Amino acid sequence: MAVKEKAWYSCYPEAIPKSLTYPDHPLPYFLEQAAKDFPEREALYFLGKRLTYQELLDDVYRMAQVLKELGIKQGDRVSIMLPNSPQSVISYYAVLLIGGIVVQTNPMYKERELEHQLNDSGTETIICLDLVYQQVEKIRARTPLKRIIVTGIKDYLPFPKNLLYPLKLKKDGIHVEIPYGDGVYAFSQLMKKALPQPVKSEISSMDDIALIQYTGGTTGFAKGAMLTHRNTVVNIIQCNAWVHKAKYGEEKMLALVPFFHVYGMTVAMNYAIYKAATIILLPKFNTKETLKVIDKERPTLFPGAPTMYVALLNHPDTPKYDLSSIQACISGSAPLPLVVQEKFEKLTGGRLVEGYGLTESSPVTHANPIWEKRKNGSIGLPWPDTDCRILDPNTGEEVPPGVPGKLQVRGPQVMKGYWNQEKETARALSDGWLNTGDIAMMDDEGYFYIMDRQKDMIIAGGFNIYPREVEEVLYDHPKVQEAAVIGVPDPYRGETVKAFIVLKPGKTTTEEELDRYCREKLANYKVPRKYEFREELPKTTVGKVLKRVLIEEENRKSEGM
Ligand code: AMP
Repeated sequence: MAVKEKAWYSCYPEAIPKSLTYPDHPLPYFLEQAAKDFPEREALYFLGKRLTYQELLDDVYRMAQVLKELGIKQGDRVSIMLPNSPQSVISYYAVLLIGGIVVQTNPMYKERELEHQLNDSGTETIICLDLVYQQVEKIRARTPLKRIIVTGIKDYLPFPKNLLYPLKLKKDGIHVEIPYGDGVYAFSQLMKKALPQPVKSEISSMDDIALIQYTGGTTGFAKGAMLTHRNTVVNIIQCNAWVHKAKYGEEKMLALVPFFHVYGMTVAMNYAIYKAATIILLPKFNTKETLKVIDKERPTLFPGAPTMYVALLNHPDTPKYDLSSIQACISGSAPLPLVVQEKFEKLTGGRLVEGYGLTESSPVTHANPIWEKRKNGSIGLPWPDTDCRILDPNTGEEVPPGVPGKLQVRGPQVMKGYWNQEKETARALSDGWLNTGDIAMMDDEGYFYIMDRQKDMIIAGGFNIYPREVEEVLYDHPKVQEAAVIGVPDPYRGETVKAFIVLKPGKTTTEEELDRYCREKLANYKVPRKYEFREELPKTTVGKVLKRVLIEEENRKSEGM
């Protein structure tokens, strides 16, 4: 690809090429390659059980045969509704190997969300966790579902297998027996019958769709972003250029971010396999377990969300554990408060930088250089081959450095479009430019700053307030663990600023104290007029605060007034 002069190129670290060559190999190729180069290396570590690269590949081949025998063909959608586990990795690569399309499903989805996703994507097969089986069964008749493959976390624990079958579950005190038959299959029984023989890849082109990744569902219904093999492979190669000190066959990846979210899928799972790294899997984020596993398994790479780093910093037992194996972390999904970055780096001795991306771009488009020049509060520089522009929200003209506007990105990691949504696709993509829906600013050296989500901007008394700025100030307060700022209806100012605060364990404060503090640091119009103290904030599975939920709660309150 030709390299055109871009504002950010002058700051590009020497070790990172501005443009890269991308292999024409689909995702499963990299797993086969890792197994060839390092058959005995540990690929997965899961609650005490270890699988080598050869064992992982063998299981992927087994599952691929199973899926073919069940009648799944190229282009068929297969939903994976699992937490991070060996089964989630095996299912993912098996579906892709036979040319299927993975539809990642959040295991926390409720019936309404699940039904929409299966119908919208036309999914006939689901691989799900035993604990959600009943939920899937309830909506089966209202969806195209024909096959339900059920697995339990226990299937990959180091227990004798005969203890596990017939599968009995205890959920809410009720024993649930899975009624196998009638399109319901046991993952491990199917696997037992298949032999670990190589299965030929049925992917015909790098532009085949690999994933339909649902997004934008915090209000209304989610849309499915179509990501091709090329999109995802490109993002892995870009990631590799950024994390250029990572060594093939030597790293250990701490995989806390869920694989059903595009960030965990690309940066934790796919990138780790590309590097033949050991993936340390945790099915769910638990601070104490995470501290223990870091101490014992010694991960070197740890992509995460800000709330994860915050939790690890603030746990009373943190000083008891050795976290010094951690070398590089990219924080994504939400703004990374500066104090969190500084404290986490001090704690681990590694590097923690902020990155940025979205589902529609597989997901990463920007990050701060890990070992080179980075800037506080910035999402960093665009990744190789990624173009960006900032447009005036009113005129649509490109704005000069220092002026905020609508951020658009273009690059080989940008999705093909939304599944069956022509209008939405046209709204999101034009001439290859993706509207991110975020307000950003670029400085003179080409570093980008996210000011806010376009729709989250608060307009109070005619002033524009970017909640992120107010949150940064609040996060800096020594007693504040988490803060979320939204606009709430106000009869005089149109909107006014409200802050939701979670205090650090054992700390107390008052609205007056926070008010005094904010007034010292912020222009008057940005200072929150209202505070609410909470035990915790509503969050997505990657730990992003669900501001929509807070906004809806507030709207309901004001309607009820
Ligand atoms: P998703 O598609 O769920 O990954 O969400 C993408 C959105 O997350 C972006 O459009 C941003 O609004 C937000 N986001 C991701 N990374 C950051 C970041 N570093 N700072 C601020 N917002 C971010």
